[in-house]
Amino acid sequence: MAEKNSTISWRVFNMFLVLVVVILTTIIAYVYERVDGQRYRASLRGDLTQQASILRATMEGKLAQSAEIVKTVATLIDADPAVIDGRLSMIIDELLGDDSILRDIAIAPDLVVRHVYPLKGNETVLGLDYTKNREQFVAISQALAIGATVVAGPVKLVQGGEGFIIRTPVLSDNPDKQWWGIVSGVINTSTFYKLTGLANHSPQFDVALRGKDGTGANGAVFYGSDAVFRNDPVLTDVIFPNGSWQMAIAPKGGWPAHPPNFDHTRLIFILGALLTIFFVLTASRLAQKREQAENLLASAVDAVDAGLALFDENDYLVACNSTFQSYYGGKINLTNPRRRFIDILKDIANSKTIPEAIGREEEWVAERIHLHRQATSSTERLLGDGRWIRIEERRTPDGGTATVTVDITALKKAKEQAEQANRAKTEFLNTVTHELRTPLTVILGFTPLLANSHKLPSARKLQEALEKNPVDAQAIRRCADDLTEEISRYASSMDKAGRHLLSLINDILDLSKAESGLLALNPSACQRDRIVQEIVEQFQPTAEGKGLVLNFEPSGSTIMADRIRLNQILVNLVGNALKFTDYGEIRITTEDDSDFVKICVHDTGCGIPKESITDIFSVFTQADNSDTRRATGTGLGLAISRKLVELHGGRIWVESEPGKGSTFCFTMPKPGRA
Ligand code: ADP
Repeated sequence: MAEKNSTISWRVFNMFLVLVVVILTTIIAYVYERVDGQRYRASLRGDLTQQASILRATMEGKLAQSAEIVKTVATLIDADPAVIDGRLSMIIDELLGDDSILRDIAIAPDLVVRHVYPLKGNETVLGLDYTKNREQFVAISQALAIGATVVAGPVKLVQGGEGFIIRTPVLSDNPDKQWWGIVSGVINTSTFYKLTGLANHSPQFDVALRGKDGTGANGAVFYGSDAVFRNDPVLTDVIFPNGSWQMAIAPKGGWPAHPPNFDHTRLIFILGALLTIFFVLTASRLAQKREQAENLLASAVDAVDAGLALFDENDYLVACNSTFQSYYGGKINLTNPRRRFIDILKDIANSKTIPEAIGREEEWVAERIHLHRQATSSTERLLGDGRWIRIEERRTPDGGTATVTVDITALKKAKEQAEQANRAKTEFLNTVTHELRTPLTVILGFTPLLANSHKLPSARKLQEALEKNPVDAQAIRRCADDLTEEISRYASSMDKAGRHLLSLINDILDLSKAESGLLALNPSACQRDRIVQEIVEQFQPTAEGKGLVLNFEPSGSTIMADRIRLNQILVNLVGNALKFTDYGEIRITTEDDSDFVKICVHDTGCGIPKESITDIFSVFTQADNSDTRRATGTGLGLAISRKLVELHGGRIWVESEPGKGSTFCFTMPKPGRA
């Protein structure tokens, strides 16, 4: 379910990414196209400005050159009007030469054309009275008014066609007439347009001229379309003597919004967006896979029973599971902000959760860091709550550290118990060896004496008595009695030692049977008081021998028990009481409840030290005090008794105060309960 939700949120995230890429690419493309368009138009305008400059310079050059020729002719006439009939024709021929664009020069004294050069083709002009030609007279009046050269046109030429006319007035010497006349130079418009490059400019732009008769921007359009002036054109003034035209150049069809390679740019942006989407989605998919892998790892790490923590090469904690955190009771901040190993350690030391660090925090941190820096390390640590943990550290290939923490409390306890059992076993073996050796030493000590009984002092005395007076029957009997008494004393000691040996071996056998589960009980309902009474009678002589009182208070209950084993338990408890009591009394009491019968043996003996009380029922254990040492024993009696009581379904315990005495109690089921 969580995985499905995660997939859905990744899908939404991917859609969001695609949307962001599309929006961003659109904005960038839009801005780029605008800027690129502006840049392109600026560059185009630069190109057109350059074109306009070239055209303007050419036109101005041609007009200036032509005006200069007309002015020269006017100056010559002004200097000497007779030149007209003289060498003027030759001079004009020379001036018009090959590179002039003037088609002819007309000389009009009193504003009537009387001479035209060359005459051929211009014959119709002769006799033209400017004062009667309305169209041309305006420009002539202007030239006369300002007394300088003007450029008129384009005008319809009398000789046909259309042309520009450059006119220069010639002053008069006659005080009655201000003007001698006027000199005009004619340029065919078609020739002008062709030679200045206007007619054959690039087809990619349009050119228009306005300012007929040199009236500049205010004049009428005479070349090209009026529309060019409305298309935000590059404007240039063509200046000539006493007038100007305005030239407009604009791209054909208007200013382009985009450069010609616009489609390529757009294609590149689309491809760029697609590529970006591809990379973004691939990166997103990788991130999704990484997140899934990390989640998987995190849940796997969390599922592990051991505490896991990973540190990077700079010793920052990268990840840890909840088990790891649990070892420090959740008291240590492990993750927020990113923590370093040393800072976590300091917090652990200061949290007082580690007994071995309390009071020596800095030293402990230093020791721990030293271990941590080793490639591999293994540390065991006792926690404040009594748990033991083992920390294994290993270097990872990328220079980080992996820490595995395992709870070894159970292992530690088992080890301690095993060590304790082993120690007890060793002690037992020492004791048993000693105990077995004592009676054996006694037996082996007496055996040679009995084997060589003739060497016994009483036997030698009997021998001597027989040799001295073989008929002194009385003396011989006395010696024989001594010998018998000596032999039976030795035999009795050997018997005692042998019995002790036997009881010791029986105890060991019983215990090993009980331990291995081979000891089978044979329970029956027994008269408890009778059994206890027999024990009292059995031990009465010993008690009296030690000057002790042995008491029993009967209560008449029955008990469900294996008679022999119940006897064995009582013998052990009463025997111990007698063994560890030097004065006072031993009292046996009984008590019943609904299911169990309780039997207690109280004594006024040496008591058991507190620290030994829990151990004395363990196998092979003896309370380590001087009285124990004084008294013989194997440390098996109570262990066997506990086993026997537990096999009956009861329990056994002791209450004791050193120097005052002990009370051993055990319970056994009543008949019908077992
Ligand atoms: P043992 O053969 O040494 O008596 P037990 O298992 O019967 O072995 O007793 C174990 C130890 O318990 C004794 O060595 C002794 O130290 C202690 N003990 C048992 N009974 C008494 C008692 N009544 N008074 C004092 N100490 C006792």
